[in-house]
Amino acid sequence: MRVAVVGAGLGGVAAAVGLHRQGHEVSLYERGAELREAGTAVVVMPNGIRALDELGLGDYVRGQAVSAGSGGLRDRRGRPLLVTDAVQAQRTIGPTACVSRAELHRALRAALPADLVRTATPIQRLEPHDAGVTVISDDRPVATADAVIAADGIGSTLRGLLFPEHPGLRRVGRVDLRGMLPRPAHLDVTDLLTAIVVDRRTGAMFGLFPVGENDLYWFTDSALHGPPPEPAVARHQMLDLMADWHPAIPALIEATPPADIYVDAIARLAEPLPAFAIGATALLGDAAHAMTPDLGQGASQAFEDAAALTRHLTGATPADVAERLLRYDAERRPRTSRLMTASSRQSWLMSRTGAIAWLRDTALRATPRRLATRRLAAMWRA
Ligand SMILES: Cc1cc2nc3c(=O)[nH]c(=O)nc-3n(C[C@H](O)[C@H](O)[C@H](O)COP(=O)(O)OP(=O)(O)OC[C@H]3O[C@@H](n4cnc5c(N)ncnc54)[C@H](O)[C@@H]3O)c2cc1C
Repeated sequence: MRVAVVGAGLGGVAAAVGLHRQGHEVSLYERGAELREAGTAVVVMPNGIRALDELGLGDYVRGQAVSAGSGGLRDRRGRPLLVTDAVQAQRTIGPTACVSRAELHRALRAALPADLVRTATPIQRLEPHDAGVTVISDDRPVATADAVIAADGIGSTLRGLLFPEHPGLRRVGRVDLRGMLPRPAHLDVTDLLTAIVVDRRTGAMFGLFPVGENDLYWFTDSALHGPPPEPAVARHQMLDLMADWHPAIPALIEATPPADIYVDAIARLAEPLPAFAIGATALLGDAAHAMTPDLGQGASQAFEDAAALTRHLTGATPADVAERLLRYDAERRPRTSRLMTASSRQSWLMSRTGAIAWLRDTALRATPRRLATRRLAAMWRA
């Protein structure tokens, strides 16, 4: 079957590899001039690693698994709020990995023959007809496919065309900074590794993960007033905001050059889509279910989508592709809709200030380690 995948992000490349390995005639269209993934690192949760395993792509991330770390939630001084047994959680559910985005993308696309990829090809629209779906770029047909996978990311053009009534993206009033740097030898970050730090005075957050032996990945999340600032300004604001936090936190932010800092105004789909498939076209990844990053599930869900699509399209023919894509929709939409809601709730709860935040922290401190670990494991379970 001829399958056109639109968008060569982590989700699109994973799907293209899976479908190619099942014997489909895959073409991957990317609007960018080259195939690459920019920006720091990404946490791949145990369910995401399992999905990559299903696609035969799990080796690279498994090799980068994060040793358990202290995990849990901490206050701004680094004191424990919610203690989890990450070793136990990993033992039952499997490892988590934190990997360079660029390296992960490289590892995935290495499994795809280069001649299947068309870069500098922004897809503007699709025209379904009796013989398939014509894929249009720059007002010219570039292919006719039996199935199209829209993996064109959070700002998806194809989602807007397929669901003109859907309200689209909604900003959540938060901004995230992300940075990656070589692990500074003089800083003791043991308490912070794999933990999320929350501050009930400001509603800001900080997280830290090891990337391989030598690098660290950090992120911050805080309220956004007005347009997102430039990295140098954003870094300055964050240093002000976090000046009296655990001393390693401002030190790490300060040690990261602005050129290596990425700033994102956080957005999510205003509401779940009414379907992930229409006829011979299906959506995948952020195009289908953009969620806030609070559960670290965006990429893992894109990998689960890619694995599910590959499974449902195994042995498919043009005659039954629409029915198979409906099965994909039935499998994936309930789970991703639940996670969209859960990550928005997490975003709301962790960014509270005042009395609600005090109550939250009191409840977190009172949560037994075993219960916290069980909840963590339930979230990771696919
Ligand atoms: C601050 C932040 C931190 C995050 N941290 C994590 C994390 O730790 N763990 C995690 O799992 N997730 C995380 N996420 C979410 C994760 O990055 C995304 O869910 C994931 O990258 C989505 O992959 P994708 O392939 O669906 O989309 P994308 O990676 O956005 O890829 C879409 C691709 O489509 C291309 N494209 C767009 N339009 C067209 C077109 N018309 N024609 C052709 N090509 C097109 C784009 O150029 C791009 O290459 C985070 C997100 C943010 C904002």
